[in-house]
Amino acid sequence: MKQSLTFLLVSLVVFFSCKENTLGAPEDLNESQENSNSTPKNIILLIGDGMGISQITAGMYRNGNKLELERCNTIGLIKTNSKKELITDSSAGATAFATGKKTRNGMISQAMEDSTNYKTFVEYAEENKKATGIVVTSTVTHATPACFYAHYPRRYDANEAISEQFVNSGVDVLIGGGKKYFETRKDGRNLLQELTEKGYTIPDTLTSNFDTKEIFKLAYLYSPTQPGKRVFSEGDEAPSRGPILPLATQKAIDVLKKDTNGFFLLVEGSQIDWGGHNNDSEYIINEMLDFNESIKIALDYADQNGETLVIITADHETGGYAIIEGELDGSSLTVGFSTKHHSASMIPVFAYGKGAKNFSGIYDNTQIFYKMMEAFGNDLTK
Ligand code: MG
Ligand code: ZN
Repeated sequence: MKQSLTFLLVSLVVFFSCKENTLGAPEDLNESQENSNSTPKNIILLIGDGMGISQITAGMYRNGNKLELERCNTIGLIKTNSKKELITDSSAGATAFATGKKTRNGMISQAMEDSTNYKTFVEYAEENKKATGIVVTSTVTHATPACFYAHYPRRYDANEAISEQFVNSGVDVLIGGGKKYFETRKDGRNLLQELTEKGYTIPDTLTSNFDTKEIFKLAYLYSPTQPGKRVFSEGDEAPSRGPILPLATQKAIDVLKKDTNGFFLLVEGSQIDWGGHNNDSEYIINEMLDFNESIKIALDYADQNGETLVIITADHETGGYAIIEGELDGSSLTVGFSTKHHSASMIPVFAYGKGAKNFSGIYDNTQIFYKMMEAFGNDLTK
């Protein structure tokens, strides 16, 4: 009897000390702030449109077998289906993130039944005096960014209707393509002029020494319609856009961090998806590396600031992309695609910084909204 009791005690001690080890290395400085019950002041949500596990993997091997994502200790998986379709599109996917509600493909933050508006995370954040920003490599009126500040029953042919809604959105920083939809409109309005009157700075170019000290509202539309790729390839219609996404992420943070109430920033690597639709592996990889640099900016800020939650995920996978063969250094990767469209694969969620722990597990894409609300202390609903 005594022997078995001793054995039981020893087993329990061994069990609990093992368990503690699996909970995370004590030397991890972020461990304490990653607890789910801590409330960050700022949230940066980075969406790699069309970024599935293979897109991440290809970017990682090409980048010398490492990615900034590896800094995140909290990883989850989301189910991406839309309300009507197994295979989501970017508008239903972004509506889920932005509003916590499922809708039909093609709809921008509205109910599929009667087109009533679903209130967005940006709208809640604005109501609660947080600064907000949107930084993308598509037009700013494209499905993913639009779902965070606009409402419309269909995503196509909606550029002018959506840009018009931006003017009164209260969003403080807007960087992406689509200048034409603000400046040369069918209704004759010049929305850039209207934004200037509302206190926005509208620069012609954005460089690393662009001074944000006196700027509280910024709109930089760096191409008339869709921006070009990060890396130009033969036959492209648009010129290369260059490293605008990481630069814009940095400048957006520099502007938004001045708000003492905190901020919400959406950053989208919009074109990972387009590489997938084109079944173009090099396009995917170049866009992944661009997104990786932007992730670095966000994670570095979280380290430095200590009150920031960073979430990195995707709306869906595109291309049914797979790596079949290749060199260890990623210099050559033989790949296959199973579709020109999106696929149903679950999508990883990476979280970092204050409140990150709450993002582990397997859950629906709508939970991103509720978890972000919870991270902001749920007071956004008041
Ligand atoms: Mg998108
Ligand atoms: Zn797509």
